[in-house]
Amino acid sequence: MNEVWIFANPIAGRGKGERLAKRIAARASEANLNPIVIFDRADTLDAARFKHDARAAVVIGGDGTLRTVCDALVTILGPERVPPIVVVPMGTANLMGRHLDVDWRDKNVEERVVAAILANRTVQLDVAKANEKLFLLMVGVGIDAQIVHELDRVRSGPIDLTSYILPAALALQAYQYPSIEVTVDDRTVFPMGPGMAFVGNVPEYGTGFPVLTQARSDDGLLDICVLPIRSYQEILKMGLLALAGEHTEAEGVVYVKGKHVRIDALEQVPVQIDGDPGGHTPLVIDLLPFHLPFIVPPKA
Ligand SMILES: [Mg+2]
Repeated sequence: MNEVWIFANPIAGRGKGERLAKRIAARASEANLNPIVIFDRADTLDAARFKHDARAAVVIGGDGTLRTVCDALVTILGPERVPPIVVVPMGTANLMGRHLDVDWRDKNVEERVVAAILANRTVQLDVAKANEKLFLLMVGVGIDAQIVHELDRVRSGPIDLTSYILPAALALQAYQYPSIEVTVDDRTVFPMGPGMAFVGNVPEYGTGFPVLTQARSDDGLLDICVLPIRSYQEILKMGLLALAGEHTEAEGVVYVKGKHVRIDALEQVPVQIDGDPGGHTPLVIDLLPFHLPFIVPPKA
């Protein structure tokens, strides 16, 4: 069982994804592993390539790439055959890399990635599905999802953090403060009213400060936070409270844990799934009955 699958988008970062994949593959060969570099899009993977069990799967890319590769591997192989996953962050959104404390430096990244595969120190992370899409990090319903949808509409190439400025302004201007209703494990925790909701597994969030402050990625539960939002002023207020880590104490805010979440709305409210557009409400989220293994750096 010496196969190591290396997934990369060949055009990401002007070819940086491809160069990184080749460097890691060369180092893996030197270590007597059998690297297989896969440049195909995750939704077009050929099951015939995955006949043998692998020692590890390296995913080079952002959170969106990681999500699609994990989703495809679970679908093609079944969860029990998914090998330990090594995250090699690239691009703008790398919350999973941050969560796993992965800091492979660019200079000797291949060295460290192969060393981590050989050491095989793993953590088992919760996985969930949102409207049939597997996700690892967080689903958002409301203004943050509207920004993600807006960015997807206007983007024309690689993005960086400044790419969010215009979409954020447009999304805030167009946002209508729609009403949502949130049900967790068959209990209505937020009756129909203006608000935004976050459901996920990790505290890390794109703003740099946590929204799901108590989330643990291995506790077998999802964290759910619903913020009542009726105006632009309330978005700013919640943002400032979240910056101080105090939003969960604010009036009307719901923070619970659970396994099955349903979010309904009177109109279609945008959804983001691990930072990518995820359609609109209604939204059904279920924690899945298995974990996925992730390789973390060996202890120093
Ligand atoms: Mg959890």
